Formats: sequence, structure tokens, C-alpha cells
Amino acid sequence: MKESFDVLNKIHTPYVCANLRKCKACWKCMYNCPEKVIGKVGFLWHKHIVIKNAGNCIGCKKCIRICPYGVFSEKI
Ligand code: SF4
Ligand code: SF4
Repeated sequence: MKESFDVLNKIHTPYVCANLRKCKACWKCMYNCPEKVIGKVGFLWHKHIVIKNAGNCIGCKKCIRICPYGVFSEKI
């Protein structure tokens, strides 16, 4: 499934939503997502996560629990 973007820098899987503006690029969510849903934009001057395999998300919510900056939230 293709990820969706909106004008507020929010990206989604079927279960979770991420606000990219809050991302500090620590990569904890990326390394801990069991389904490798999360990827990164890792330029020196521009770093944040991306959702690369939204359709693989199983809704475990590990990303919500692990992110220190509250980037992820449950999709409503
Ligand atoms: S854990 Fe949070 S701050 Fe760290 S890379 Fe993931 S979304 Fe960004
Ligand atoms: S809910 Fe689980 S599977 Fe989906 S992106 Fe977060 S950590 Fe990965």
C-alpha cells in the first residue's frame, strides 16, 4: 500500500499516524518496528522518518510507545 501525505506533514499507516514535524531523527521507531514499516530521510540538513511499507503495519503500536517525542499516535 502506498503511504499518504497531507499538508500538515502527517503520514499514516492503517493503524498509526505520525507527525513529522516532531521527529528528531533518533531512529528508535525504525529499529524497533517489527514489520520494517518505517524508513528514513537521512540527509545531513534534513532528517525525519518516512513510512515506506504502510500496508505491512500490523498495528502493534510499538512506535507509539517507543518514540520519545510523541510523533506517533493511534489513527482514529
Ligand atoms: S522514535 Fe520518534 S523521534 Fe525518533 S526517529 Fe522515530 S519518530 Fe523520529
Ligand atoms: S504499529 Fe507496529 S508495525 Fe505499525 S509502524 Fe508502528 S511499530 Fe511498525
